[in-house]
Amino acid sequence: MTLESYRKLFGTNGIRGIPGKDLSLEFVTEMAQSIGSYFLGPKPLLVGNDVRNSSPTLSKAVLSGVMAAGSEVQEAGLAPTPAHQFAVRTLGYGAGIIVTASHNPPQYNGMKVVGSDGVEIARETEREIEQVYFGKKYRKADWKSVGRAGKETRVVENYIRGIMSQVDAMKISEMKATVVLDVGNGAQAVAAPYLCERLGCKVITINGQPDGNFPGRGPEPTPANLKGMSDAVKAYHAAFGVAYDGDGDRSLFCDENGEIYWGDRTGSLLVDFLLDKHKGGPVATTVSTSQLVGIIAEKKNAEVIWTTVGSVDVSRAMVNRNAPLGLEENGGFFYGPHIPVRDGAMTTALVLNVLAARGVSFSKAIGALPQFFQMKAKFECPNDKKKEVMTKLESESREGRIDRTDGLKIWLDEHTWILLRPSGTEPLIRVYAESDDESKLDKMYNRYQDLVKGAIES
Ligand code: MG
Repeated sequence: MTLESYRKLFGTNGIRGIPGKDLSLEFVTEMAQSIGSYFLGPKPLLVGNDVRNSSPTLSKAVLSGVMAAGSEVQEAGLAPTPAHQFAVRTLGYGAGIIVTASHNPPQYNGMKVVGSDGVEIARETEREIEQVYFGKKYRKADWKSVGRAGKETRVVENYIRGIMSQVDAMKISEMKATVVLDVGNGAQAVAAPYLCERLGCKVITINGQPDGNFPGRGPEPTPANLKGMSDAVKAYHAAFGVAYDGDGDRSLFCDENGEIYWGDRTGSLLVDFLLDKHKGGPVATTVSTSQLVGIIAEKKNAEVIWTTVGSVDVSRAMVNRNAPLGLEENGGFFYGPHIPVRDGAMTTALVLNVLAARGVSFSKAIGALPQFFQMKAKFECPNDKKKEVMTKLESESREGRIDRTDGLKIWLDEHTWILLRPSGTEPLIRVYAESDDESKLDKMYNRYQDLVKGAIES
């Protein structure tokens, strides 16, 4: 094996980089040619993109590469990532390439590759495509067999219709709810507001202009940068607010009082509602998600599949185990009957559906779930030191039950845990902690924070 064959291009979520720096047009074209060769068949490939300034240019490079491999390709242009994924799944495509860097800062971009089912390709498939690329084993079509390109214009309408078919649109319309959508200058600007309007909502949109500079609150929604949404919800007496990330697959909600919730709390509300329809689950989620999901699932006799951290890991677990529901703490919710990938607009429609079906406010619906206290933090740690730090932390953690699904998850008692995990993409050690007792959480967190800092500095 050559040295090159060890190199990895795909990270936690596709290929990412900075155009003009480490994501050159030459690289993108050659990579697209490799992907086009891998998926060469009777069905065309779909190429779509997000709102980034560099996305139209990179999309053209992707189209060129795929055609150069001899594959037919359709250009979809701007739409949320889950809309492109749903189009691949339902409109007869062999695969899809989406030019996006999700929630990363504006200078980034990337490529997300999905199979004919619209789901991100498996890790083994990524490795196989990397082999094609590094070995320059991609197909070079001659003048007679070079691929053709056309336009795909149905992506957004197909997406909105697909989502509406999964919820009780009539009942939602009767609510005549006012909703605040903070699209964060991202791709949901072209879909989610129209979906909500068609579901009978009065829609207030903020940061609603698609803009690759993300001048509003940036492409990543976090409880810290969503004050504008909370204020708008209170000012307009809205039923709730929802904020999407740059490519529209993640969503964070606030209730009618403007209080913001992490994705696992809103996700647990949906799991509680949807398990009545999808009896037994299973529910797929990452080990960093709240135990609330487990408690709800147990009450409803459903199994939880705890996965490694990453949306692809959740999607793949759903596909492999035929799970209808999936979620992440960062605001990813996956509804299998629609498509087993995280989807901000689908999640919004499901939240509307819960409120319509139960006839209660958002805060009441979510307040009915058991309360847990959470803490999340990150500590800088050089990539080459992560292994040593984790070994040290493991040897110093002599208490509790340990779960090694991803990193080190230590259960100190039945409802108190802490997860120490090296980031797969950044030079960081991430810490997640949860307990039913706030003072217990503080004590545990402080102790482990010292341990982590000590291990990194030593
Ligand atoms: Mg995203």
